Amino acid sequence: MEIRIEPVQENQKKRKCTNPAELGFGRYFTDRMLVADWSEREGWFDVRIVPYGPFMLEPSAAVFHYGQEAFEGLKAYRWNADSVALFRPEMNLKRLIRSATRLALPEVPADLFIEGMKELVRLERDWVPESEGTSLYIRPALIATEEALGVRPAAKCRFFIILSPVGAYYATGFKPVRILVEDRMVRAAPGGTGEAKTGGNYAASLIAGREAVKRGFDQVLWLDAIQHRYVEEVGAMNIFFVIDNRLVTPPLSGSFLEGITRDSILKLAPTLGLTVEKRPAAIDDLMNGIRNGSVQEVFGAGTAAVVSPVGALCYQNELATIGGGTVGPVTQLLYDTLTGIQYGRLPDRFGWMQEL
Ligand SMILES: *Cc1c(COP(=O)(O)O)cnc(C)c1O
Repeated sequence: MEIRIEPVQENQKKRKCTNPAELGFGRYFTDRMLVADWSEREGWFDVRIVPYGPFMLEPSAAVFHYGQEAFEGLKAYRWNADSVALFRPEMNLKRLIRSATRLALPEVPADLFIEGMKELVRLERDWVPESEGTSLYIRPALIATEEALGVRPAAKCRFFIILSPVGAYYATGFKPVRILVEDRMVRAAPGGTGEAKTGGNYAASLIAGREAVKRGFDQVLWLDAIQHRYVEEVGAMNIFFVIDNRLVTPPLSGSFLEGITRDSILKLAPTLGLTVEKRPAAIDDLMNGIRNGSVQEVFGAGTAAVVSPVGALCYQNELATIGGGTVGPVTQLLYDTLTGIQYGRLPDRFGWMQEL
C-alpha cells in the first residue's frame, strides 16, 4: 500500500497544550490525519497523510442524512522518550469490519488500518504526552460520502484517522461514579445496531445521559430492550460485577458492544486468581445483592477510563451504595494490572502491546 505524505506547513502546525491537566478528552488534535477514499468501482484509493483540517463534503453526502458510519477508539501509550506502543490494534480492525458489515460500509483492509495507523502515529510521535496517565487517543472512522439522497448503501465512502492527546482520566484520583439505571429508554435492541460501534447508538443515548447528569449522576446504566430487566452497558462501557467473590459480566447479547477492554479483563482475570462468569444479571437481583452485600463491587470497562469504579446505583428512585462507595480490591487490581501492561510497567504475557 502506497501512502502519499503531504508536508505540514509552518502555519498549519498546531499549538501544543503543554499543561497535561488541561488536555481533557478529544479537545486537541495533532498536525496530521490519515485519509483514504473508496468507491464501488475503484475500491480503496488515494491513501494519504495530510495536514489535519476540515473536509469538503457535499451537503447531500449520505452520512449527514442516514447515519451510515462506524468508528473505533484506541490509545497509543508513551513508554519512554523513544518508545510508543499501541494496545491490541488488530482487535479494533476486526471490530471495525464487523461494524462496517452491519452498516453496509466497505471493509477496511488490514494494511490500511494497521500500517496506516502506525505510520501516522510514528509521524506524530512527539504528540504522545508523557505525564502519568496521559495517552494519545486514536480515532479511526468510516463514513458514507456519496452525494445522493436515495436510501441505499452508499457507493462512495471515506476512511480517516485523527489523533488526540488526552489527559489522565483520573486526574484527581480513582473516584467511583454514580449511575442512574434507565428503565424507560433503551439504547439498542436485539437485531439492531447495538453491537456495532456506530454514531446512531450514541445519538439515541444522549437525552438519557443529559437527564442523568441533571439529576446529579455521571452515567446511565442501560437495560435490555424487551424486559427492561437485564443490564447491558454503563454509558459507553461494558459492565462488570464482583458477586460472592466471582467476577461476573453479561454474555454478549447482540445489543451491546463487545469491548476490547472487556475481552482483555476476561483473559487477564483468571491469571490473577479470579473466577470469571458470563451470565445475565437482572437489575432487581443486583439491587438486592447490593443491599445484602453479596454484590461487592461494580465497575465499567472501556478504552477511555480502562476501569471505572461504580460507587452507587439508582433504580426506580432507590439509591444503593456499593461497598461503602469506595474502590474495591478487584477493581483496583484489574485497573493496576491492565494499565501496568499498557504503560509498559508490567510484563505483557499475552503479546497485546505493539511498539512502533
Ligand atoms: C467503544 C465502546 C465500548 C468499549 O469498548 P472498548 O473496546 O473496551 O473501548 C463499550 N460500549 C460502547 C457502546 C462503545 O462504543
